[in-house]
Amino acid sequence: MSTTRVAVIGSGPSGAYTAQLLTEESESPVEVDVFDRLPTPFGLVRYGVAPDHPRVKSITTSFAEVFEDTPGLRFLGNVHVGADVSIDELRSHYDAVVFAHGAPLDRRLDVPGEELARVHAVREFVSWYQGHPDQSAEAFVLDGRRAVVVGVGNVALDAARMLVREIDDLRRTDIPEHIVDAFAASTFEEVVVIGRRGPGFAKFTNKEFIELLEVESTDIVIDPADLELDAAQQAHVDADPAARRLLTTFRKAADRGILGRPKSIRFLFDRTPIGFVGDDGTLSGIRLAKTSDPSTTEVLETQLALRSVGYLGKPLDGLPFDERTGTVPHLDSRVVDGEVVVPGVYVAGWIKRGPNGVVGTNRKCALETVTSVLEDVAAREHTSTASTAAEVDELLSSRGVDVVDWHGWRAIEEAEGATGASVGRERVKLHDRDEMLRVAAAHRSLVGAPGHG
Ligand SMILES: Cc1cc2nc3c(=O)[nH]c(=O)nc-3n(C[C@H](O)[C@H](O)[C@H](O)COP(=O)(O)OP(=O)(O)OC[C@H]3O[C@@H](n4cnc5c(N)ncnc54)[C@H](O)[C@@H]3O)c2cc1C
Repeated sequence: MSTTRVAVIGSGPSGAYTAQLLTEESESPVEVDVFDRLPTPFGLVRYGVAPDHPRVKSITTSFAEVFEDTPGLRFLGNVHVGADVSIDELRSHYDAVVFAHGAPLDRRLDVPGEELARVHAVREFVSWYQGHPDQSAEAFVLDGRRAVVVGVGNVALDAARMLVREIDDLRRTDIPEHIVDAFAASTFEEVVVIGRRGPGFAKFTNKEFIELLEVESTDIVIDPADLELDAAQQAHVDADPAARRLLTTFRKAADRGILGRPKSIRFLFDRTPIGFVGDDGTLSGIRLAKTSDPSTTEVLETQLALRSVGYLGKPLDGLPFDERTGTVPHLDSRVVDGEVVVPGVYVAGWIKRGPNGVVGTNRKCALETVTSVLEDVAAREHTSTASTAAEVDELLSSRGVDVVDWHGWRAIEEAEGATGASVGRERVKLHDRDEMLRVAAAHRSLVGAPGHG
Protein backbone atom coordinates (compact mmCIF):
# COMPACT_ATOMS: atom_id res chain seq x y z
CA MET A 1 0.00 0.00 0.00
CA SER A 2 1.59 3.33 -0.99
CA THR A 3 2.03 6.12 1.55
CA THR A 4 -0.25 9.15 1.18
CA ARG A 5 1.59 12.45 1.63
CA VAL A 6 -0.36 15.46 2.88
CA ALA A 7 0.71 19.10 3.25
CA VAL A 8 -1.00 21.13 5.98
CA ILE A 9 -0.61 24.89 5.68
CA GLY A 10 -0.57 26.49 9.14
CA SER A 11 0.47 25.03 12.49
CA GLY A 12 -2.19 26.74 14.62
CA PRO A 13 -4.80 24.58 16.41
CA SER A 14 -6.63 23.65 13.20
CA GLY A 15 -3.42 22.62 11.41
CA ALA A 16 -2.06 20.78 14.44
CA TYR A 17 -5.34 18.91 15.01
CA THR A 18 -5.56 18.10 11.28
CA ALA A 19 -2.06 16.62 11.33
CA GLN A 20 -2.74 14.66 14.51
CA LEU A 21 -6.09 13.29 13.32
CA LEU A 22 -4.77 12.38 9.86
CA THR A 23 -2.11 10.19 11.41
CA GLU A 24 -4.51 8.74 14.00
CA GLU A 25 -7.51 8.08 11.77
CA SER A 26 -5.91 6.85 8.56
CA GLU A 27 -6.04 3.11 7.96
CA SER A 28 -3.28 3.31 5.34
CA PRO A 29 0.19 4.84 5.82
CA VAL A 30 0.21 8.64 5.81
CA GLU A 31 2.95 11.26 6.11
CA VAL A 32 2.19 14.88 6.94
CA ASP A 33 4.29 18.00 6.43
CA VAL A 34 2.99 20.98 8.44
CA PHE A 35 4.13 24.30 6.97
CA ASP A 36 4.12 27.63 8.78
CA ARG A 37 5.32 30.99 7.55
CA LEU A 38 6.67 31.67 11.04
CA PRO A 39 9.71 29.92 12.53
CA THR A 40 7.45 28.98 15.47
CA PRO A 41 4.45 26.62 15.60
CA PHE A 42 0.97 26.92 17.17
CA GLY A 43 -0.42 30.08 15.49
CA LEU A 44 -2.73 32.07 17.74
CA VAL A 45 -2.11 29.85 20.75
CA ARG A 46 1.32 31.50 20.85
CA TYR A 47 0.33 34.88 19.36
CA GLY A 48 -3.35 35.36 20.30
CA VAL A 49 -4.41 33.56 23.49
CA ALA A 50 -3.71 36.01 26.30
CA PRO A 51 -0.36 35.54 28.07
CA ASP A 52 -2.15 35.41 31.43
CA HIS A 53 -4.19 32.39 30.23
CA PRO A 54 -1.51 29.70 30.74
CA ARG A 55 -4.04 26.89 31.00
CA VAL A 56 -5.34 27.50 27.48
CA LYS A 57 -1.79 27.86 26.20
CA SER A 58 -0.79 24.53 27.72
CA ILE A 59 -2.48 22.75 24.78
CA THR A 60 0.89 23.28 23.07
CA THR A 61 2.32 20.53 25.29
CA SER A 62 0.04 17.93 23.77
CA PHE A 63 0.58 19.30 20.23
CA ALA A 64 4.34 19.05 20.86
CA GLU A 65 4.00 15.42 21.93
CA VAL A 66 2.23 14.68 18.67
CA PHE A 67 5.00 16.34 16.62
CA GLU A 68 7.67 14.48 18.57
CA ASP A 69 6.09 11.04 18.77
CA THR A 70 4.50 10.61 15.33
CA PRO A 71 6.70 9.05 12.66
CA GLY A 72 6.27 10.79 9.29
CA LEU A 73 4.98 14.05 10.81
CA ARG A 74 7.24 17.04 10.19
CA PHE A 75 7.19 20.76 11.01
CA LEU A 76 8.51 23.02 8.26
CA GLY A 77 8.59 26.50 9.77
CA ASN A 78 9.61 29.73 8.07
CA VAL A 79 8.05 28.61 4.77
CA HIS A 80 5.58 31.15 3.42
CA VAL A 81 3.10 29.36 1.20
CA GLY A 82 2.17 31.65 -1.68
CA ALA A 83 5.64 33.28 -1.63
CA ASP A 84 8.29 30.58 -1.08
CA VAL A 85 6.25 27.87 -2.74
CA SER A 86 3.06 28.20 -4.77
CA ILE A 87 -0.20 26.41 -4.24
CA ASP A 88 0.09 24.67 -7.63
CA GLU A 89 3.54 23.41 -6.68
CA LEU A 90 2.22 22.03 -3.41
CA ARG A 91 -0.62 20.32 -5.26
CA SER A 92 1.86 18.65 -7.57
CA HIS A 93 4.14 17.52 -4.71
CA TYR A 94 1.47 16.15 -2.35
CA ASP A 95 -1.57 13.89 -2.63
CA ALA A 96 -3.64 16.36 -0.59
CA VAL A 97 -3.15 19.93 0.65
CA VAL A 98 -5.09 21.22 3.68
CA PHE A 99 -5.23 24.98 4.16
CA ALA A 100 -5.41 25.90 7.85
CA HIS A 101 -3.78 29.31 7.66
CA GLY A 102 -6.16 31.22 9.91
CA ALA A 103 -7.51 34.76 9.60
CA PRO A 104 -4.61 37.22 9.76
CA LEU A 105 -6.43 40.46 8.82
CA ASP A 106 -9.12 42.45 10.62
CA ARG A 107 -12.46 44.04 9.93
CA ARG A 108 -12.68 47.81 9.84
CA LEU A 109 -15.35 50.13 11.16
CA ASP A 110 -15.33 52.15 7.93
CA VAL A 111 -15.81 55.49 9.65
CA PRO A 112 -13.95 58.77 9.10
CA GLY A 113 -10.61 59.13 10.89
CA GLU A 114 -9.83 55.40 11.04
CA GLU A 115 -6.45 56.11 9.39
CA LEU A 116 -5.30 58.44 12.21
CA ALA A 117 -2.17 57.47 14.15
CA ARG A 118 -3.08 55.60 17.35
CA VAL A 119 -6.22 54.05 15.88
CA HIS A 120 -5.38 50.36 15.57
CA ALA A 121 -6.88 46.96 15.02
CA VAL A 122 -6.83 45.07 18.31
CA ARG A 123 -4.92 42.39 16.37
CA GLU A 124 -1.96 44.78 16.03
CA PHE A 125 -1.97 45.46 19.75
CA VAL A 126 -2.27 41.76 20.61
CA SER A 127 0.53 40.87 18.16
CA TRP A 128 2.71 43.57 19.69
CA TYR A 129 2.36 42.48 23.30
CA GLN A 130 2.70 38.83 22.31
CA GLY A 131 6.01 39.58 20.55
CA HIS A 132 4.83 38.53 17.06
CA PRO A 133 7.81 38.92 14.72
CA ASP A 134 5.73 40.90 12.16
CA GLN A 135 4.99 43.61 14.74
CA SER A 136 7.80 46.00 15.62
CA ALA A 137 8.81 46.32 19.25
CA GLU A 138 8.19 50.09 19.03
CA ALA A 139 4.69 49.85 17.51
CA PHE A 140 2.96 51.06 20.70
CA VAL A 141 3.92 53.74 23.22
CA LEU A 142 1.45 53.70 26.11
CA ASP A 143 1.61 57.37 27.01
CA GLY A 144 -2.03 58.45 27.06
CA ARG A 145 -4.61 58.77 29.81
CA ARG A 146 -7.67 57.06 28.33
CA ALA A 147 -7.78 54.16 25.86
CA VAL A 148 -10.90 52.91 24.15
CA VAL A 149 -11.63 49.40 22.93
CA VAL A 150 -14.47 49.14 20.42
CA GLY A 151 -16.19 45.76 20.70
CA VAL A 152 -17.48 43.47 23.43
CA GLY A 153 -15.97 40.06 22.64
CA ASN A 154 -13.35 38.10 24.58
CA VAL A 155 -10.50 39.61 22.56
CA ALA A 156 -11.66 43.12 23.51
CA LEU A 157 -11.55 42.14 27.18
CA ASP A 158 -8.09 40.57 26.78
CA ALA A 159 -6.81 43.90 25.42
CA ALA A 160 -8.53 45.94 28.14
CA ARG A 161 -7.19 43.65 30.87
CA MET A 162 -3.63 43.81 29.52
CA LEU A 163 -3.80 47.62 29.65
CA VAL A 164 -4.50 47.59 33.40
CA ARG A 165 -2.72 44.41 34.55
CA GLU A 166 -0.21 44.71 37.40
CA ILE A 167 3.39 44.48 36.22
CA ASP A 168 4.16 41.58 38.57
CA ASP A 169 1.42 39.60 36.85
CA LEU A 170 2.91 40.39 33.44
CA ARG A 171 6.33 39.25 34.63
CA ARG A 172 4.80 35.83 35.33
CA THR A 173 3.92 35.52 31.61
CA ASP A 174 6.27 34.92 28.67
CA ILE A 175 5.87 38.31 26.95
CA PRO A 176 9.16 39.93 25.89
CA GLU A 177 10.99 41.98 28.50
CA HIS A 178 10.77 45.23 26.45
CA ILE A 179 6.99 44.79 26.29
CA VAL A 180 6.82 44.42 30.09
CA ASP A 181 8.88 47.63 30.29
CA ALA A 182 6.44 49.38 27.92
CA PHE A 183 3.49 48.36 30.11
CA ALA A 184 5.41 49.42 33.24
CA ALA A 185 5.85 52.88 31.68
CA SER A 186 2.16 53.10 30.69
CA THR A 187 0.32 56.22 31.85
CA PHE A 188 -3.14 54.95 30.94
CA GLU A 189 -5.57 55.24 33.84
CA GLU A 190 -8.85 54.40 32.16
CA VAL A 191 -9.98 51.96 29.48
CA VAL A 192 -13.44 52.44 28.03
CA VAL A 193 -14.99 49.35 26.41
CA ILE A 194 -17.64 50.37 23.90
CA GLY A 195 -20.59 48.15 22.94
CA ARG A 196 -22.94 48.97 20.09
CA ARG A 197 -25.88 47.34 21.87
CA GLY A 198 -26.82 46.89 25.51
CA PRO A 199 -25.16 44.59 28.08
CA GLY A 200 -27.72 41.84 27.35
CA PHE A 201 -25.98 41.35 24.00
CA ALA A 202 -22.35 41.46 25.21
CA LYS A 203 -20.41 38.64 23.54
CA PHE A 204 -17.64 38.01 26.03
CA THR A 205 -17.98 35.10 28.42
CA ASN A 206 -18.83 35.36 32.09
CA LYS A 207 -15.46 33.76 32.87
CA GLU A 208 -13.54 36.53 31.03
CA PHE A 209 -15.57 39.19 32.79
CA ILE A 210 -14.98 37.65 36.23
CA GLU A 211 -11.25 37.79 35.46
CA LEU A 212 -11.53 41.55 35.01
CA LEU A 213 -13.18 41.86 38.41
CA GLU A 214 -10.20 40.06 39.90
CA VAL A 215 -7.61 42.62 38.71
CA GLU A 216 -6.84 44.26 42.04
CA SER A 217 -5.66 47.64 40.82
CA THR A 218 -8.77 48.28 38.75
CA ASP A 219 -12.32 49.49 39.26
CA ILE A 220 -14.95 48.08 36.92
CA VAL A 221 -17.44 50.81 36.13
CA ILE A 222 -20.92 49.95 34.92
CA ASP A 223 -23.85 52.34 34.88
CA PRO A 224 -26.67 50.57 36.81
CA ALA A 225 -29.18 52.26 34.47
CA ASP A 226 -27.72 50.18 31.60
CA LEU A 227 -28.77 47.04 33.44
CA GLU A 228 -32.45 47.91 33.15
CA LEU A 229 -32.98 45.92 29.98
CA ASP A 230 -35.24 46.86 27.11
CA ALA A 231 -37.57 44.22 25.67
CA ALA A 232 -35.12 42.97 23.01
CA GLN A 233 -32.34 42.46 25.54
CA GLN A 234 -34.68 40.87 28.04
CA ALA A 235 -35.93 38.37 25.42
CA HIS A 236 -32.34 37.53 24.48
CA VAL A 237 -31.25 37.08 28.09
CA ASP A 238 -34.32 34.95 28.86
CA ALA A 239 -33.44 32.65 25.97
CA ASP A 240 -29.69 32.41 26.58
CA PRO A 241 -28.31 31.04 29.86
CA ALA A 242 -24.80 32.37 29.12
CA ALA A 243 -26.18 35.92 28.70
CA ARG A 244 -28.15 35.46 31.93
CA ARG A 245 -25.05 34.43 33.89
CA LEU A 246 -23.14 37.40 32.50
CA LEU A 247 -25.92 39.77 33.44
CA THR A 248 -25.88 38.48 37.01
CA THR A 249 -22.14 39.23 37.18
CA PHE A 250 -22.70 42.69 35.65
CA ARG A 251 -25.16 43.36 38.49
CA LYS A 252 -22.63 42.22 41.08
CA ALA A 253 -20.02 44.49 39.51
CA ALA A 254 -22.41 47.45 39.54
CA ASP A 255 -23.27 46.70 43.19
CA ARG A 256 -19.58 46.59 44.11
CA GLY A 257 -19.43 50.18 42.90
CA ILE A 258 -16.31 52.31 42.56
CA LEU A 259 -13.60 51.49 45.09
CA GLY A 260 -11.22 54.35 44.25
CA ARG A 261 -8.59 52.11 42.68
CA PRO A 262 -5.82 53.67 40.58
CA LYS A 263 -7.15 52.36 37.26
CA SER A 264 -10.57 51.69 35.83
CA ILE A 265 -12.31 49.88 33.02
CA ARG A 266 -15.60 51.53 32.13
CA PHE A 267 -18.31 49.91 30.00
CA LEU A 268 -20.16 52.21 27.66
CA PHE A 269 -23.12 50.45 26.05
CA ASP A 270 -25.59 51.51 23.36
CA ARG A 271 -22.90 53.52 21.52
CA THR A 272 -21.97 53.35 17.82
CA PRO A 273 -18.60 54.78 16.77
CA ILE A 274 -19.22 57.22 13.93
CA GLY A 275 -15.73 58.63 13.53
CA PHE A 276 -12.35 59.42 15.05
CA VAL A 277 -11.09 62.96 15.50
CA GLY A 278 -7.47 64.01 15.63
CA ASP A 279 -4.86 66.73 15.90
CA ASP A 280 -2.11 66.78 13.25
CA GLY A 281 -2.96 63.28 12.09
CA THR A 282 -2.99 61.76 15.57
CA LEU A 283 -6.08 60.52 17.42
CA SER A 284 -7.53 62.80 20.09
CA GLY A 285 -11.11 61.50 20.39
CA ILE A 286 -13.76 59.08 19.25
CA ARG A 287 -17.13 60.34 18.05
CA LEU A 288 -20.02 58.22 19.32
CA ALA A 289 -23.75 58.17 18.61
CA LYS A 290 -26.31 56.56 20.88
CA THR A 291 -27.39 53.46 18.99
CA SER A 292 -30.96 53.76 20.30
CA ASP A 293 -31.07 57.49 19.47
CA PRO A 294 -28.54 58.34 16.70
CA SER A 295 -29.23 62.08 16.97
CA THR A 296 -27.48 62.09 20.37
CA THR A 297 -23.73 62.25 19.79
CA GLU A 298 -20.64 62.95 21.89
CA VAL A 299 -16.86 63.04 21.49
CA LEU A 300 -14.93 61.03 24.05
CA GLU A 301 -11.35 62.16 24.47
CA THR A 302 -8.89 59.30 23.99
CA GLN A 303 -5.25 58.73 23.09
CA LEU A 304 -5.47 55.12 21.89
CA ALA A 305 -8.31 53.35 20.07
CA LEU A 306 -8.41 49.62 19.43
CA ARG A 307 -11.14 48.28 17.20
CA SER A 308 -12.03 44.74 18.16
CA VAL A 309 -14.70 43.87 15.66
CA GLY A 310 -13.36 40.63 14.19
CA TYR A 311 -10.35 39.01 12.57
CA LEU A 312 -10.63 38.42 8.83
CA GLY A 313 -9.25 35.85 6.38
CA LYS A 314 -6.79 36.83 3.66
CA PRO A 315 -6.88 35.59 0.05
CA LEU A 316 -3.97 33.40 -1.08
CA ASP A 317 -2.92 33.44 -4.73
CA GLY A 318 -4.40 30.41 -6.47
CA LEU A 319 -6.95 29.57 -3.75
CA PRO A 320 -10.65 30.46 -4.14
CA PHE A 321 -11.78 33.10 -1.63
CA ASP A 322 -15.14 34.56 -0.62
CA GLU A 323 -14.55 38.28 -0.02
CA ARG A 324 -17.89 38.64 1.74
CA THR A 325 -17.20 36.11 4.49
CA GLY A 326 -13.40 36.28 4.39
CA THR A 327 -13.23 32.49 4.12
CA VAL A 328 -12.34 29.84 1.54
CA PRO A 329 -15.53 28.33 0.04
CA HIS A 330 -15.89 24.59 0.55
CA LEU A 331 -18.25 21.63 0.50
CA ASP A 332 -17.64 19.29 3.44
CA SER A 333 -14.17 20.89 3.80
CA ARG A 334 -13.34 20.25 0.10
CA VAL A 335 -12.39 23.58 -1.50
CA VAL A 336 -14.74 24.62 -4.31
CA ASP A 337 -14.18 27.04 -7.16
CA GLY A 338 -17.70 28.18 -8.00
CA GLU A 339 -19.60 24.90 -8.03
CA VAL A 340 -16.58 22.73 -8.84
CA VAL A 341 -14.57 20.84 -6.22
CA VAL A 342 -10.83 21.51 -6.53
CA PRO A 343 -9.35 18.00 -6.31
CA GLY A 344 -7.02 17.31 -3.39
CA VAL A 345 -7.48 20.74 -1.72
CA TYR A 346 -9.16 21.14 1.68
CA VAL A 347 -9.67 23.71 4.45
CA ALA A 348 -9.82 23.71 8.25
CA GLY A 349 -10.10 26.21 11.09
CA TRP A 350 -10.69 29.95 10.92
CA ILE A 351 -10.08 30.19 7.16
CA LYS A 352 -12.85 27.61 6.70
CA ARG A 353 -15.52 28.79 9.14
CA GLY A 354 -14.51 32.37 10.05
CA PRO A 355 -12.90 33.71 13.23
CA ASN A 356 -15.04 32.09 15.90
CA GLY A 357 -14.86 29.41 18.54
CA VAL A 358 -12.30 28.36 21.10
CA VAL A 359 -9.19 26.25 20.54
CA GLY A 360 -11.16 23.01 20.99
CA THR A 361 -13.68 24.02 18.29
CA ASN A 362 -10.87 23.53 15.79
CA ARG A 363 -10.57 19.85 16.72
CA LYS A 364 -14.12 19.11 15.62
CA CYS A 365 -13.58 21.27 12.53
CA ALA A 366 -10.32 19.42 11.71
CA LEU A 367 -12.02 16.06 12.17
CA GLU A 368 -14.58 16.96 9.49
CA THR A 369 -11.72 17.93 7.18
CA VAL A 370 -9.74 14.76 7.89
CA THR A 371 -12.83 12.64 7.27
CA SER A 372 -13.18 14.14 3.78
CA VAL A 373 -9.45 13.77 3.03
CA LEU A 374 -9.44 10.11 4.06
CA GLU A 375 -12.68 9.34 2.19
CA ASP A 376 -11.08 10.72 -0.98
CA VAL A 377 -7.85 8.83 -0.38
CA ALA A 378 -9.80 5.59 0.08
CA ALA A 379 -11.83 6.23 -3.09
CA ARG A 380 -8.70 6.92 -5.12
CA GLU A 381 -7.75 4.00 -7.31
CA HIS A 382 -4.21 5.01 -8.30
CA THR A 383 -1.24 4.98 -5.97
CA SER A 384 0.36 8.08 -4.52
CA THR A 385 2.10 10.41 -6.97
CA ALA A 386 3.54 12.64 -4.25
CA SER A 387 7.17 13.67 -4.02
CA THR A 388 9.25 12.26 -1.21
CA ALA A 389 10.17 14.30 1.84
CA ALA A 390 13.71 14.59 0.49
CA GLU A 391 12.43 15.98 -2.83
CA VAL A 392 10.38 18.62 -0.99
CA ASP A 393 13.46 19.54 1.07
CA GLU A 394 15.48 19.85 -2.11
CA LEU A 395 12.89 22.15 -3.71
CA LEU A 396 12.89 24.47 -0.68
CA SER A 397 16.65 24.41 -0.37
CA SER A 398 17.06 25.25 -4.10
CA ARG A 399 14.95 28.38 -3.38
CA GLY A 400 17.18 29.36 -0.46
CA VAL A 401 14.33 28.89 2.05
CA ASP A 402 15.79 28.68 5.56
CA VAL A 403 13.45 26.00 6.89
CA VAL A 404 13.12 25.79 10.68
CA ASP A 405 12.38 22.18 11.60
CA TRP A 406 11.07 20.84 14.90
CA HIS A 407 14.57 20.69 16.38
CA GLY A 408 15.12 24.31 15.32
CA TRP A 409 11.90 25.28 17.11
CA ARG A 410 13.04 23.37 20.21
CA ALA A 411 16.28 25.38 20.10
CA ILE A 412 14.23 28.62 19.97
CA GLU A 413 12.24 27.38 22.98
CA GLU A 414 15.44 26.64 24.88
CA ALA A 415 16.77 30.11 24.08
CA GLU A 416 13.51 31.56 25.41
CA GLY A 417 13.97 29.60 28.63
CA ALA A 418 17.54 30.87 28.95
CA THR A 419 16.49 34.47 28.28
CA GLY A 420 13.82 34.10 30.96
CA ALA A 421 16.26 32.66 33.48
CA SER A 422 18.63 35.60 32.89
CA VAL A 423 15.95 38.04 34.13
CA GLY A 424 14.37 35.85 36.81
CA ARG A 425 11.40 34.80 34.71
CA GLU A 426 10.37 31.33 33.63
CA ARG A 427 10.44 32.07 29.93
CA VAL A 428 10.69 35.14 27.73
CA LYS A 429 9.65 35.04 24.08
CA LEU A 430 12.10 36.06 21.37
CA HIS A 431 10.47 38.86 19.37
CA ASP A 432 12.89 39.28 16.50
CA ARG A 433 12.54 36.88 13.57
CA ASP A 434 16.23 37.11 12.59
CA GLU A 435 17.24 36.19 16.11
CA MET A 436 14.94 33.13 16.00
CA LEU A 437 16.48 32.10 12.67
CA ARG A 438 20.00 32.59 14.08
CA VAL A 439 19.17 30.38 17.08
CA ALA A 440 17.71 27.66 14.83
CA ALA A 441 20.68 27.85 12.43
CA ALA A 442 23.20 27.71 15.28
CA HIS A 443 21.52 24.55 16.51
CA ARG A 444 21.62 23.07 12.99
CA SER A 445 25.33 23.72 12.61
CA LEU A 446 25.89 22.20 16.06
CA VAL A 447 24.10 18.95 15.32
CA GLY A 448 24.88 19.05 11.58
CA ALA A 449 21.61 17.40 10.65
CA PRO A 450 19.33 18.74 7.92
CA GLY A 451 16.32 16.51 8.83
CA HIS A 452 13.03 18.09 9.79
CA GLY A 453 12.10 15.68 12.59
C1 LIG B 1 -6.55 37.52 20.68
C2 LIG B 1 -7.12 36.13 20.71
C3 LIG B 1 -7.28 35.49 21.93
C4 LIG B 1 -7.81 34.20 21.98
N1 LIG B 1 -7.96 33.61 23.19
C5 LIG B 1 -8.47 32.36 23.27
C6 LIG B 1 -8.61 31.74 24.56
O1 LIG B 1 -8.30 32.31 25.61
N2 LIG B 1 -9.12 30.46 24.56
C7 LIG B 1 -9.46 29.78 23.41
O2 LIG B 1 -9.87 28.62 23.47
N3 LIG B 1 -9.33 30.39 22.19
C8 LIG B 1 -8.85 31.64 22.09
N4 LIG B 1 -8.73 32.24 20.87
C9 LIG B 1 -9.18 31.51 19.65
C10 LIG B 1 -8.12 30.55 19.06
O3 LIG B 1 -6.86 31.16 19.10
C11 LIG B 1 -8.50 30.17 17.62
O4 LIG B 1 -9.71 29.42 17.67
C12 LIG B 1 -7.47 29.34 16.87
O5 LIG B 1 -6.17 29.82 17.02
C13 LIG B 1 -7.78 29.28 15.36
O6 LIG B 1 -6.93 28.31 14.81
P1 LIG B 1 -6.43 28.30 13.29
O7 LIG B 1 -5.47 27.15 13.24
O8 LIG B 1 -7.58 28.27 12.36
O9 LIG B 1 -5.67 29.68 13.03
P2 LIG B 1 -4.29 30.28 13.66
O10 LIG B 1 -4.17 29.93 15.09
O11 LIG B 1 -4.32 31.70 13.27
O12 LIG B 1 -3.15 29.53 12.85
C14 LIG B 1 -2.85 29.81 11.51
C15 LIG B 1 -1.36 29.54 11.23
O13 LIG B 1 -1.14 29.63 9.82
C16 LIG B 1 0.08 30.30 9.56
N5 LIG B 1 0.02 30.88 8.21
C17 LIG B 1 -0.74 31.91 7.80
N6 LIG B 1 -0.54 32.17 6.49
C18 LIG B 1 0.39 31.25 6.07
C19 LIG B 1 1.03 31.03 4.82
N7 LIG B 1 0.72 31.74 3.72
N8 LIG B 1 1.96 30.04 4.73
C20 LIG B 1 2.27 29.28 5.83
N9 LIG B 1 1.68 29.48 7.04
C21 LIG B 1 0.76 30.44 7.15
C22 LIG B 1 0.15 31.34 10.67
O14 LIG B 1 1.48 31.78 10.88
C23 LIG B 1 -0.42 30.57 11.87
O15 LIG B 1 0.61 29.91 12.59
C24 LIG B 1 -8.19 33.54 20.79
C25 LIG B 1 -8.03 34.18 19.55
C26 LIG B 1 -7.51 35.48 19.52
C27 LIG B 1 -7.34 36.17 18.20
